Amino acid sequence: MLGPRASAALALLRSCRLCPRRCGVDRSGGETGFCGVGRLARVASHGPHFGEEDCLVGRGGSGTIFFSGCNLACAFCQNEDISRRSRPGDEVTTRELADLMLDLQSQGCCNINFVTPSHVVPQILDALPLAVEGGLSLPLVYNSGGYDSSEALALLQGVVDIYMPDLKFWDPAEADRLCGAPDYPEAARAAVGIMRAQVGDLRLSPGGLAQRGLLVRHLVLPGGLAGTREWMAFLASEISPNTYVNLMDQYRPCADASVHPELERPLEPDEYRQALDHARAAGISRFGARNADSVRMLLRRLAARGLEPDGGIG
Ligand code: SF4
Repeated sequence: MLGPRASAALALLRSCRLCPRRCGVDRSGGETGFCGVGRLARVASHGPHFGEEDCLVGRGGSGTIFFSGCNLACAFCQNEDISRRSRPGDEVTTRELADLMLDLQSQGCCNINFVTPSHVVPQILDALPLAVEGGLSLPLVYNSGGYDSSEALALLQGVVDIYMPDLKFWDPAEADRLCGAPDYPEAARAAVGIMRAQVGDLRLSPGGLAQRGLLVRHLVLPGGLAGTREWMAFLASEISPNTYVNLMDQYRPCADASVHPELERPLEPDEYRQALDHARAAGISRFGARNADSVRMLLRRLAARGLEPDGGIG
């Protein structure tokens, strides 16, 4: 079933229009565009990861495969070296990528978590049949920045179990200034709609593990630069009020943040509380967090605001 998909996806690399940037370079011939990656995917690291949302971690950790390169250029990127500077790691063949997935499964991971996958969808689709033939049976997590094309997402229908887009900027001018993609808001809104249509709201097992569905991340930025109020209203009204949201409070100045004075400081507690208020006022009630400490902190914050989560926190 996946063979024709991989072929169709690999064809998108010839004059690359895999993601909304549509660079037009011939990646199948080794050229590179904005993401800096050619025909073969480059893997910066892989292994069980215990810092993801609790519903992805379980006992064995989330089996992350961290791809080098990125189709965005966030000014405050915490992984700038991997995303756009040296882009470390080895290029991997189809067989090697499949073996990485099988290795993570043999280590007891709960899922395979493709981190920053938007520019390597064809390579993933090419490797999956080999991994499945080798016994891969774990849920697949697509952990992207939300800058995904409808063409790439169509090829992932029925393949991805859990979509985890990190929704960044609502305002096109801020998206242009801070991640070099003025069409980011429009593209990300379309992408999250397609993701939700494919997998529905996030479903958890009785033990609290994510099985299938949409899990949205949103990093709250100083000064409301991410457009949290607008994103939460959009999710509740246009996607689903049952959207499972990890409203992240860990913004710290990194990379080129110092170029932008308003990003030179951490998030204030009041700004995070206001973001929670926006989410609740919009009708969002399912909040996730990244580890037990964060969950406890989030519960305290909700309680302090007189708010009780009526969905799972995991
Ligand atoms: S995947 Fe890379 S080369 Fe292709 S359009 Fe996107 S940024 Fe450009």
